[in-house]
Amino acid sequence: MPDNNTNNGGKLVLVATPIGNLGDVSERQIAAFREADLIAAEDTRHSGLLLHHLGIKKPMISYYRHNEAKREDQLLDELAAGRNIALISDAGTPGICDPGAAILRTAAAQDFEVDAIPGPCALIQALVLSGLSTERFAFEGFVPRGSELTPYLQGLKSEPRTLVFYEAPHRLHHTLSAMRDAFGADRPAAVCRELTKKFQEIGRGTLGELCREWQQRDPRGEFVLVIAGADAAAAATPDDDAIRAHLARLLDGGMKLKAASREIAAAYGIPAKAAYEMGLTLKQE
Ligand code: SAM
Repeated sequence: MPDNNTNNGGKLVLVATPIGNLGDVSERQIAAFREADLIAAEDTRHSGLLLHHLGIKKPMISYYRHNEAKREDQLLDELAAGRNIALISDAGTPGICDPGAAILRTAAAQDFEVDAIPGPCALIQALVLSGLSTERFAFEGFVPRGSELTPYLQGLKSEPRTLVFYEAPHRLHHTLSAMRDAFGADRPAAVCRELTKKFQEIGRGTLGELCREWQQRDPRGEFVLVIAGADAAAAATPDDDAIRAHLARLLDGGMKLKAASREIAAAYGIPAKAAYEMGLTLKQE
């Protein structure tokens, strides 16, 4: 379906590729590769294997997070010279936590024809398989690291839409327990692992259950976390148990009560004095 472009140059097409199962390649994806004069890929070696599997040989150019800006002019010159470009990421849909969105925006603003060939995307696959509501959802990508994590999750605590997150295996334990503390142990969730692959696994349960399970396992592979949205009544009630559990962990980790109270106060928007008193009670228990 052509865009309303007025530029007579080449066409930029973002092409989704499999997230683990080569059977997910579609006819339109293959056609887009065949029509391309140049394939821009996050990792040319990795994507070279996919193209080899499809029996397609085309000139390739690297296009990844750290050379995106530098490459943009070069790719726009190629379009201006009338060459068609297919852009792919290592896996899934370009532009979703992967490069692609910025150059599509620029190319469209310069009236080049742009298109996207649909296909696998881990967030949609996980959302649908989670068994949680798919009516309204918010995709949050990767959670922030370090001290930003708790306030960030607190900001999402009352979000009524289903939440979808990407996470790296080595951070799964930490992120799951931070989510349990922020959203409450009873919140329904799903841990989706190795989607579309041989060892695909969907763990459905509460955050408390999933946390317990994964603390006993060594997380390997790729993960998407899907968390049920807050139900309005529950979201309005401050979850003291979660605050107490978080405070107890800080104190058990050796943090001084004063510093821990300040951190808890900032994270949950409660007075530091209240956090301090909670800490005193915890110490006496
Ligand atoms: N553009 C990709 C997409 O459309 O899903 C996402 C790229 S992002 C850099 C990579 C993250 O996506 C992984 O860390 C993981 O959270 C998720 N992911 C990708 N493939 C997956 C799979 N097969 N199973 C589970 N999660 C996956």
